[in-house]
Amino acid sequence: MSTVTDVKILSDRINALAESATIGMAKKARELGAKGIEVVNLSFGEPDFQTPTHIKEAAKKAIDDGFTFYTPVSGYPDLKNAIVSKLKRDNNLEYKPENIVVSTGAKQSIANALMCLVNPGDEVVIYAPYWVSYSELVRLCEGVPVLVEGGIENDFKAPIEKLREAITPRTKVVMFSSPCNPTGSVFTENELRDIAAEVVKNENIYVIADEIYEFINFGEKHVSIATFPGMMERTALVNGMSKGFAMTGWRLGYMAAPKWLADACDKLQGQVTSGTCSIAQKAAIAGLIGDLTPTYDMNKAFLRRRDLCYNLLKEIPGIKVNLPKGAFYFFYEVKSYFGKTTPEGSKINTAEDLCMYLLNEAHASLVTGDAFGAADFIRMSFAASDENLIKAIGNIKVALSKLV
Ligand code: PMP
Ligand code: GLU
Repeated sequence: MSTVTDVKILSDRINALAESATIGMAKKARELGAKGIEVVNLSFGEPDFQTPTHIKEAAKKAIDDGFTFYTPVSGYPDLKNAIVSKLKRDNNLEYKPENIVVSTGAKQSIANALMCLVNPGDEVVIYAPYWVSYSELVRLCEGVPVLVEGGIENDFKAPIEKLREAITPRTKVVMFSSPCNPTGSVFTENELRDIAAEVVKNENIYVIADEIYEFINFGEKHVSIATFPGMMERTALVNGMSKGFAMTGWRLGYMAAPKWLADACDKLQGQVTSGTCSIAQKAAIAGLIGDLTPTYDMNKAFLRRRDLCYNLLKEIPGIKVNLPKGAFYFFYEVKSYFGKTTPEGSKINTAEDLCMYLLNEAHASLVTGDAFGAADFIRMSFAASDENLIKAIGNIKVALSKLV
């Protein structure tokens, strides 16, 4: 007799879907933790800071004020107004509330946009290395991911010619994150202008611009691709509270898009999740239009940690590392370790093997680059305490030196 876990019962759609590697690795780290092994979790990309106090206070007030009912599917009007003000203040974009859809995390906004834009067989050009969920979400929509790859030598930013070559009559969407997860690269204004100029040449191509790391930026001015001529009507700008406001657990993301796309996402969300949490929405207002000092302070801490880690990582023989300009990840090349053998006699053939070795030997959890479309790399989050970062990188160095 078959059981409910039998893969034959599950849909082809879900059987074809890969587990999120970031979430998978974090799960493994927790499992080791439960066995009493202290693992430094550098696999899950989330700020280690508490949500700022004024945001927490707004949430408490929302409960006391009775905001406990279903919310409008695309978000409370006052939150949409706050998002409109934020987009004007920080991004010089003039949206109206009708352009905004608030979601259960930026992840849902990305899924919404893809579900509403992609037909089976449509091509979605993804700047690679890319964030884990992009390719799987595209596949879930029966789209075809087409990678435009940037290497470490060009700061992981594919030159514009590669985008030009990747675009075909089947291209429907171009997507990227800037600042980028996993590489920390930030597109400059000129690079974004070039991408925009390429996109507008084509009548039916839309951009999903993931700006979730906007506030974790160490230099290059953050620019939204929607600011370039012709782009507002073909961009789904995705952002949210998780990273810049240390609100990962609150599940609050949003999209700003042309009304036809916002309406479509509203319809989809109305069937799938309804409006996101009332309390998180009220808290987000305090974050977006309130005091940004805690956000800037967290950015300063990330910058300090970036420099700390960079100085330690570049001393490790055999890894190739570059300096992230934003977000909180290092994405380093580890292929010189492929083919080596562990003290127990196992062969390291892939970045995944190396991650498992480092998890067990260095008690540091990292994520294989395969999940981000770059098989020779490993991603390490630096959203952890200085002490844990120093300990983990020290352990990684020792563990790597044992490979022969
Ligand atoms: N985009 C990128 C690039 C991310 O790193 C994340 C974090 N998981 C998300 C989107 C989703 O963020 P959220 O927590 O708002 O769903
Ligand atoms: N953005 C984080 C990461 O890339 C969170 C994990 C996830 O949502 O997949 O690790």
